[in-house]
Amino acid sequence: MSQSILYLVPTQEFPIGDFQNIIQEYLTKNQLIDGLYSEEYGWLAAGDNAGGIFLDSEGAFEYAEIRDSKNLRLVPEEVGPDFTATCVYCGSGLGAILYEKVAEFYENEGEEGSCADFGELSIQCNSCSQSQSITALKLPEDRLLSRQFIQFVEIDSEANPAFIGKLEALLQCELIVIYV
Ligand SMILES: [Zn+2]
Repeated sequence: MSQSILYLVPTQEFPIGDFQNIIQEYLTKNQLIDGLYSEEYGWLAAGDNAGGIFLDSEGAFEYAEIRDSKNLRLVPEEVGPDFTATCVYCGSGLGAILYEKVAEFYENEGEEGSCADFGELSIQCNSCSQSQSITALKLPEDRLLSRQFIQFVEIDSEANPAFIGKLEALLQCELIVIYV
């Protein structure tokens, strides 16, 4: 498969810390993860049973990350020049402005590994000059803003629906599945 990152995003918000605790405990207990891949970033290493996450039971990932903070993040995080939305006031395409603002936002986050709040990002429309929060925009279908999500990085197989079903049952909420 050509995708390399699997994102799982809950359709409801949990109190800060709860999402991470539930997921991390489940993944650890089932040896899907095993300790830290990077102490600096808090990335999680694959466990002996990591194949249980994937359709191909030999599947694996390089590292996983559970995000759970008060700050809104764009999921998936990477954007390209085609990343666009329409102005909530006049309906014009925000096009390049939105992409530039998001790229600038990442640049200004400071130290690597920090995670600034997308809730504070505002975009000014070129056509009508109105400023609007990125949270007000209707983003492309495969983009969302969330305070909580999991990502499995450098995967080589699609996720097993049974694994996703298990997590959904634990969380008692649906997960949005995104591959990039
Ligand atoms: Zn406008």
